[in-house]
Amino acid sequence: MPMSEAQVHTYLLYSWFILSAVVFLALLFITAPYGRHSRGGWGPTIPSALGWVVMEAPAALVILVFYLVAPRPVSAAAWVFLGLWELHYIHRSFIYPFRARLAGKTMPLSVALMAIFFNGVNGYLNGRYFTALGPEYPADWLTDPRFLAGVAVFLVGLAANLHSDTILINLRAPGETGYKIPHGGLFRLVTCPNYLGEMVEWCGWALLTWSTPGLAFAAWTAANLLPRALTHHKWYREKFPDYPPRRRAVIPFLL
Ligand code: NDP
Repeated sequence: MPMSEAQVHTYLLYSWFILSAVVFLALLFITAPYGRHSRGGWGPTIPSALGWVVMEAPAALVILVFYLVAPRPVSAAAWVFLGLWELHYIHRSFIYPFRARLAGKTMPLSVALMAIFFNGVNGYLNGRYFTALGPEYPADWLTDPRFLAGVAVFLVGLAANLHSDTILINLRAPGETGYKIPHGGLFRLVTCPNYLGEMVEWCGWALLTWSTPGLAFAAWTAANLLPRALTHHKWYREKFPDYPPRRRAVIPFLL
């Protein structure tokens, strides 16, 4: 007997958790080759701004498709989930690439293709769960402490991510391409507060959706960004002899 979609979804979700652990371990040894860690050997390249749009737009769009083809009425809570998701991804896909000073920068097409794969699967796992395969969220989920705490965590993380990215973007005058030591905001505590904010954001998502796909997304975000934060931190320390010695990589006072 062929598997039902619910079974496929469940197996995919288990595999997704396992893959996040594999990716985490791999990224401790192989740094994703974009931004300051760009290097040859990863195939053809495309302009970075185009890369960001192409690789992040599927995250904004795939989930939307599953909402539009939902086989049951979409609950109020699930609509709020979509609103928060799009709040993040409309910025990341269609605004951030034009705010970041990426003129003249390129990224490997292979990096964009891997991100498209991630965003497609992640969009399916989350979108299909909230609109078809997971339990329906009751109306009072919107006043549940897990939802309210999760939204607060999500918004705090989003604010930290946006604020920190803005500080980084403003380090360069138009046309500049080099790197400087960032100061202010959460940079007082850590080298990568933008990554910290992003990880907090998707932990909030796991909490506010109280779902396994939401937890998988939080795990993937940490798998991608924790190793990259450690690499950034090492890079700054090697490049700038006067780098603030008490600043940690990504978790204040700890890591
Ligand atoms: P970085 O912190 O490496 O860079 C962000 C931007 O700031 C880039 O344009 C970078 O330029 C510039 N920049 C960074 N540091 C400096 C500096 N010291 N001096 C001058 N300019 C600087 O972030 P990423 O590019 O890796 O990620 C961008 C956003 O995407 C972040 O908000 C991150 O959280 C998010 N993201 C999320 C992922 C997820 O799994 N959810 C995965 C990856 C990113 P340049 O590109 O030239 O280095």
